[in-house]
Amino acid sequence: MAVRRLVLIGPPGAETAEVADRLAGGLGVISTSMLDAVQSAVRAGSQLGDELRRFMNAGQAPPLDLVAATVQRRLGEPDAVGGFVFWSGFPVLPVLRSLEPVGFQLVELVLADAEAARRLTGRRLCRGCGTRWHVESSPTRVDGVCDRCGSGLVHRADDFPAAVAHQLSAYRRQSAPVLARYRLAGSLLSVDATRPPDEIVTELTGRLARS
Ligand SMILES: [Zn+2]
Repeated sequence: MAVRRLVLIGPPGAETAEVADRLAGGLGVISTSMLDAVQSAVRAGSQLGDELRRFMNAGQAPPLDLVAATVQRRLGEPDAVGGFVFWSGFPVLPVLRSLEPVGFQLVELVLADAEAARRLTGRRLCRGCGTRWHVESSPTRVDGVCDRCGSGLVHRADDFPAAVAHQLSAYRRQSAPVLARYRLAGSLLSVDATRPPDEIVTELTGRLARS
């Protein structure tokens, strides 16, 4: 089978990380992200990692060419030779363009803003045991109280409607040029992400096998 190099993107609420991990597991390739690549470079103390650390310690976002070099390095490591699923919640066009010489297929998880917002704003976290609940899809028996441990639930500030709307508009802004470029290049595969991750992965795996 051909080497599978996939870049997976999806809006907040699309469970992009989980889909990436399951898809990579099924394909027998590694799953990694921009954040993973940056963190592992910093941990390894490589020259790139030290440069990244200088920006992070100064509270600045590292320059995109440095991030791109870090991602290229990560995806050039021996465990990625057989393929990879590189996922990103906030795709960065210059970073993806830097991967074009390697070649990849872009996979988009399609989820409307209204559904993403419904998923995100309904999330509640148990402050005792950390269990994740959802007011519609996995509610507790008593409103605001964890079924497992009886602790109170938290509605995180990141999941408030205004914060969610801000995240979603940032995703649309960043992903628009990415989608346009790879749609035009014929290397975009879009999949309906309103379903559970295992169903998404089953469909994707089938479509990739036929492509
Ligand atoms: Zn609990």
